[in-house]
Amino acid sequence: MTLIDTETGLPPLEFAVTKNLAATSAAQREELLRDPVFGTAFTDHMVDICWSVGGGWHRPRVQPYGPIALDPAAAVLHYGQEIFEGIKAYRHEDGSIHTFRPRQNGLRLQRSARRLALPELPVEYFIESLKALISVDGAWVPAAADQSLYLRPFMFAKEAFLGVRPANKVNYYVIASPVGPYFKGGAKPVSIWLSEDYARAGKGGTGAAKTGGNYAASLLPQAEAYEEGCDQVVFLDQDGNVEELGGMNIVFVYKDGTLVTPQSDSILEGITRDSLLQLAADRGHKVVGRNVSLSEWREGVASGDIVEVFACGTAAVVAPIGLLKGKSFFDEQPLGPLAMSLREELTDIQYGRREDTHDWLLRLDG
Ligand SMILES: *Cc1c(COP(=O)(O)O)cnc(C)c1O
Repeated sequence: MTLIDTETGLPPLEFAVTKNLAATSAAQREELLRDPVFGTAFTDHMVDICWSVGGGWHRPRVQPYGPIALDPAAAVLHYGQEIFEGIKAYRHEDGSIHTFRPRQNGLRLQRSARRLALPELPVEYFIESLKALISVDGAWVPAAADQSLYLRPFMFAKEAFLGVRPANKVNYYVIASPVGPYFKGGAKPVSIWLSEDYARAGKGGTGAAKTGGNYAASLLPQAEAYEEGCDQVVFLDQDGNVEELGGMNIVFVYKDGTLVTPQSDSILEGITRDSLLQLAADRGHKVVGRNVSLSEWREGVASGDIVEVFACGTAAVVAPIGLLKGKSFFDEQPLGPLAMSLREELTDIQYGRREDTHDWLLRLDG
């Protein structure tokens, strides 16, 4: 008999744990944690939950990190039915491990799933999956300042079938990778290339879903940005309104203290952006979501109406924008104190150095 959780109406997930017998030694791990490079080293285990049309979510496992066997006809390899999340685990001074607003990530994974015709993982299972991985790989959460363990939940169509329809077999995984500070030696302003030939998303498309296809579409313009000597690329919609960077949202600060961020159903709703805007609102700033055209941006900077522009996302937290470059222009961007001050407040909350008045943290260990 399966006992149903009375609060959620869900059967509890009982993860079968298979320990990695070739796990990294403590000494090797310390070496890797000395200077972790984003996305290059992974912890010893991963979470794997199966889903099928008939069986729902089943076979939750924690198993040794390693290759996933795929049939060459697996639908994801052909039609890209895939979604993911990005969230971090932070070690506090007392050694405890916390994550930040995981319900928001769980709900966003569900919205992404709906758009990609994938099954919705219950938010409770999402949170349990993070706890299950931390219960075996908690030692991988770095203790050094500004380091964290980046958690990457993802889900894709595993069914071997070349017909075009939503897959009947899907798997959900969580892997984890220790990360150091995004900017070594302090945040330096980033330069942004304006993509004038390529869009990232379109009206009614998948722009609001966290799905690999959006990233695939951003790689060529991102390569163009590198060729132009820029760090990142910014995209416009078909009406000339600013959308976002390849993987970060954008916020404009006006001289009256108002924060404006583009709002459209083709932008990925960042949890970092939402949190920073909440902190700004707490300080009395007015916060607005609306269209911002490229001309409003350029004219606002030229006239002094816009006093700061920054990008934000889980990986970098906040990146001040120092330059906007297009095919025919080169606009220096004004730098101010707000972006970095909001960044510090947010990271102070995440690392337990400041009171969590919004109840954003969730403890993952113990
Ligand atoms: C993940 C992501 C962001 C940032 O979202 P956060 O929740 O703040 O990490 C912004 N844009 C895109 C396209 C993304 O995939």
